[in-house]
Amino acid sequence: MTVSYSDLKRICVTYLDSLSPINRTRLLNAIYLADGEESEHRQKYLIRQCLNRVYWDIEEAVNMGFHRFADLDFKRKQEAFEYHDANHEQCDSSCPICKLEMIA
Ligand SMILES: [Zn+2]
Repeated sequence: MTVSYSDLKRICVTYLDSLSPINRTRLLNAIYLADGEESEHRQKYLIRQCLNRVYWDIEEAVNMGFHRFADLDFKRKQEAFEYHDANHEQCDSSCPICKLEMIA
């Protein structure tokens, strides 16, 4: 499963509402740190490491196992992003994915 760093960031933002305040801060810090890295490999590594901590807040991730959950969730969100980006002209101010981009 390959995911670009920019998609990974958008995926992270979708988790923020499900996280405890401390894990939300953790994840936002990881994104901030990763943004300062040169290599995409390293950027993704930092985020994945952080997700392995904050996934404890997400019941579906705990139930499925983090690895399986990440595979499934990255795939379904990437599909949603692809669909969104291809149909972007239909977006209005209530579009939840456009709102994510303002945060990420
Ligand atoms: Zn949109």
